[in-house]
Amino acid sequence: MEDLRFEDFEISDSIKKAIKKLGFDEPTPIQKLTIPVSLKGKDIIGQAQTGTGKTLAFAVPILEKIFIKDTSPQAIVICPTRELCIQVAEEFAKLSTFMKKLYILPIYGGQAIGRQIRVLNKGVHVVIGTPGRLIDHIERKTLDLSGIETVVLDEADEMLDMGFREDIEKILKTTSKKRQTLLFSATIPRQIMNLAKKYQNKPELLKVPHHKLTAPDIEQIYYETREKMKLETLTRLLDIYDLNLSLVFCNTKRRVDRLTRDLKARGFSADGIHGDMSQNQRDKVMNKFRKGKIEILVATDVAARGIDVPNVEAVFNYDVPNDSEYYIHRIGRTGRAGKAGYAFTFVAGKEIYKLRDIRKYTKSTIKQEKIPSLRDIENKKANLILEKVVEVIENSNLDKNIKNVEELMGEGYTSLDIAAALLNMIKEK
Ligand code: AMP
Repeated sequence: MEDLRFEDFEISDSIKKAIKKLGFDEPTPIQKLTIPVSLKGKDIIGQAQTGTGKTLAFAVPILEKIFIKDTSPQAIVICPTRELCIQVAEEFAKLSTFMKKLYILPIYGGQAIGRQIRVLNKGVHVVIGTPGRLIDHIERKTLDLSGIETVVLDEADEMLDMGFREDIEKILKTTSKKRQTLLFSATIPRQIMNLAKKYQNKPELLKVPHHKLTAPDIEQIYYETREKMKLETLTRLLDIYDLNLSLVFCNTKRRVDRLTRDLKARGFSADGIHGDMSQNQRDKVMNKFRKGKIEILVATDVAARGIDVPNVEAVFNYDVPNDSEYYIHRIGRTGRAGKAGYAFTFVAGKEIYKLRDIRKYTKSTIKQEKIPSLRDIENKKANLILEKVVEVIENSNLDKNIKNVEELMGEGYTSLDIAAALLNMIKEK
């Protein structure tokens, strides 16, 4: 399962092209597990949280099966909230960019029902809705579910918690018994299993094995930043922590390329690896990193697989990973062999929700810190220089230099003036 790629799925080129355009390198674990099973038409109980790529996991097989010429609803996704409906509809829209004349409609309460009815009358292939509004349309006979081939219950545990059980059952009963039913849920309590038993046909229970975070010596820190500030945040941390070897993770190949270029342009010793490079190219970069000829390696999750460099002092999540398991894999690259390590995560905008899931999943403490200011960096640099000064005083013969300083003091300057001026000169170098 590990090496399954998007190209390996039996899906049309138009969907593959859309996935490529989105910049996704590799299916996430839940996608690898569920897409092949779902394509076969089987019922599924998928244990997956938000942020694991579950939407794409059910959207791709649905899109693959749509018969465009039939404009009655063929798939329905039931979601607990209006926000999720919109998000799911957006994901469907992105994945179907290259599918002509495919219509998707999110329907939720609070939106004018007349408009929804007009669009439904024109014909839609996929309906994504909240239980209450779906029932409303079913009762008005403005939504005909007799031709539904696939039903998705998204965030099923959440829907049951919100008291939608009866509504869901009502909706399921109006669809054909021959339908495929996909149930996705972060947790699988007994009520979910009961629902599955009643409305699914021999479902396969698919869940990604939960790996434990096994590196207690890693200090995990996150910074709230903006997308545009991520590069600046990274360079400040690199400056302040004075790291020898660091690994920086981005979510896509394009972002690896861009960040590598930006770091090099700022004089950092960096290089990148990702799946579009030949094995030979990757090996070359890895060797340079291992030998310390480059200090910063920028990578995607896929390309970083198998990286085992003992002295990585820090892992940066330049992007919050889409899967909590990835977080564990990424930060496990530091703090090896009893050494301490840092894991820094940059969180911009909605990434905070992914971080919340990661915290829950890994049950680890990720503390928030303020991005170091330019003054912090200045102080840190001065401290580093002064540490070196002490080292030189203790370990070198300075007689000649002392004479030079004494001469200058003869001209009326204090030793403090001279030391401060020298510090200035070094800092500006
Ligand atoms: P979800 O769990 O469906 O809420 O997805 C979380 C985020 O991951 C969404 O922004 C998706 O667009 C993104 N995503 C889905 N599949 C992949 C993938 N294979 N690689 C990278 N990102 C993905």
